[in-house]
Amino acid sequence: MSKPVPEPMAVKGRRLACVICGGEAFTKRNITVITSGAANTGFNKAAEAVTCSSCGFIHHFVTGVVEPADPLP
Ligand SMILES: [Zn+2]
Repeated sequence: MSKPVPEPMAVKGRRLACVICGGEAFTKRNITVITSGAANTGFNKAAEAVTCSSCGFIHHFVTGVVEPADPLP
């Protein structure tokens, strides 16, 4: 698996900025949030983790709301 390249992301058409450092480049991956109390039960929620490439803060979103944004100027 190759290392993901950080890129700008948007939610509802608004460019995502890190809540900690204001960074605008992120990597995104799918995660599973354990809501049933046990892993691998099939009853957990799929989500997306968007990690700030600058400070590492992880922003969590439900699946499907984070989209690629236009490249930084
Ligand atoms: Zn950050």
